[in-house]
Amino acid sequence: MSTWRKDHLGASSSEPLPVVIIGNGPSGICLSYLLSGYTPYVKPGAIHPHPLLQRKLTEAPGVSIMDQDLDYLSEGLEGRSQSPVALLFDALLRPDTDLGGNMDSVLTWKHQKERAIPHLVLGRKLPGGAWHSIEGSMVTLSQGQWMGLPDLQVKDWMCQKRRGLRNSRATAGDIAHYYRDYVIKKGLGHNFVSGAVVTAVEWGTPEPSSPGARDPSPLFQVSGFLTATDRSQQPFSLCARNVVLATGTSDSPAQLGIPGEGLPFIHHDLSALEAATRAGTVTPSSDPVVIIGAGLSAADAVLYARHYNIPVIHAFRRPVDDPGLVFNQLPKMLYPEYHKVHQMMREQSILLPSPYEGYRSFPEHQLLLFKEDRQAVFQDPQGHQKVFEVSLVLVLIGSHPDLSFLPGAGADLAMDPDQPLSTKRNPIDVDPFTYQSIHQEGLYALGPLAGDNFVRFVQGGALAVASSLLRKEARKPP
Ligand SMILES: Cc1cc2nc3c(=O)[nH]c(=O)nc-3n(C[C@H](O)[C@H](O)[C@H](O)COP(=O)(O)OP(=O)(O)OC[C@H]3O[C@@H](n4cnc5c(N)ncnc54)[C@H](O)[C@@H]3O)c2cc1C
Repeated sequence: MSTWRKDHLGASSSEPLPVVIIGNGPSGICLSYLLSGYTPYVKPGAIHPHPLLQRKLTEAPGVSIMDQDLDYLSEGLEGRSQSPVALLFDALLRPDTDLGGNMDSVLTWKHQKERAIPHLVLGRKLPGGAWHSIEGSMVTLSQGQWMGLPDLQVKDWMCQKRRGLRNSRATAGDIAHYYRDYVIKKGLGHNFVSGAVVTAVEWGTPEPSSPGARDPSPLFQVSGFLTATDRSQQPFSLCARNVVLATGTSDSPAQLGIPGEGLPFIHHDLSALEAATRAGTVTPSSDPVVIIGAGLSAADAVLYARHYNIPVIHAFRRPVDDPGLVFNQLPKMLYPEYHKVHQMMREQSILLPSPYEGYRSFPEHQLLLFKEDRQAVFQDPQGHQKVFEVSLVLVLIGSHPDLSFLPGAGADLAMDPDQPLSTKRNPIDVDPFTYQSIHQEGLYALGPLAGDNFVRFVQGGALAVASSLLRKEARKPP
């Protein structure tokens, strides 16, 4: 660890850091890149295919995108995100991608060290965030090129590594590797502290230094612990003028909330099945693995188990033909494997015995309880109970943001503070052009926490935060 990082992580540090980013996934990495002085300009001579955007881009030649009015530039853009800045940055990076094109970005990047803002990125695991927890052989839902961060195309990185996309998609393992490499290639490593878990963020407003001085900005105290290679833990505490929440959603899986859910054979993460197959504790001759859920993570688990010929009971609450099931929103041509799972879920409920050996689908079934002797008790739609001996249970029914390190677990920051924080229905309430919390100055949120659920779109939030922080730095008295 560099001395600079040691100084700031040590309790003795008195000078506040301008920015602390909590979370080292794609959101935190992209923001670190922008805060490190990498500055986007429109390439001389580049023509954007969106005529209105092209006209606006020509109005301020030679001015960095980060110094322009993001509200003005993004006005009139439409696409698959609700965030205007996410659409803007995506349109600049991948100008015609939604039309099926492959046009190069209209941006060129200059490394202007004088614009860098010192910052630290704290993360529980290695840089790459959720991608280090996703089963490595799983293929991304998004096209591989949408998983890339600024100025390093996934396809170019793949070429260098002699890897290839699969039907234009990448494996989660390659993407995790790409993010780790991105941090190294772009020289961002000194900003990152891996194995750092934040357990508390508190803030207060310091006294004004002189009568009549402007209201001082709040100061944040960020504390937690660092896990060393020998697994020992060391507390740290640091002070920051701005804090960016980029913690994603993957650390707090949703629970069924039924008796026995804490038993050791119940898991909430696909990696448990991987570990059990690797260790040989779950095999083709074991009792079935129960997979609960009808989303893509559950589908991935079904595919994984099928690959290893492991018997599966697949239970989910909704009817198989429920239009709200994610499978109905995915084009068949692009996602044949997920449609296969949906077909299995559907056919099994009509035909008995299963045409898919070793797989049984239980639509509209509710789990009632798990027993210590590895039994799972289900209730069918008619209210009848069924009991099965099982080897392992995977509860894959989504995940929630975990902001337990904030006062009141961050509930006051949500769009509707009376409802639980949710990335899809009730994200953190941020200004759409700065991503600063509406409720707390100096506190920012990025990625799923701010309602941007795809890597392609989390990057616009990073642009908004970097642009806002640069303006704040410029306003600071010398
Ligand atoms: C199975 C699966 C498949 C997906 N497929 C796709 C896809 O195909 N395309 C796509 O665009 N998106 C996909 N996503 C969503 C994608 O993973 C997220 O949009 C993206 O990773 C969000 O990036 P992030 O940096 O905001 O958060 P994350 O990637 O979740 O990173 C946040 C990091 O912060 C860490 N953290 C959390 N709390 C703390 C704390 N208190 N202290 C320190 N560190 C902390 C977490 O451990 C995590 O490593 C998928 C997600 C899952 C789970």
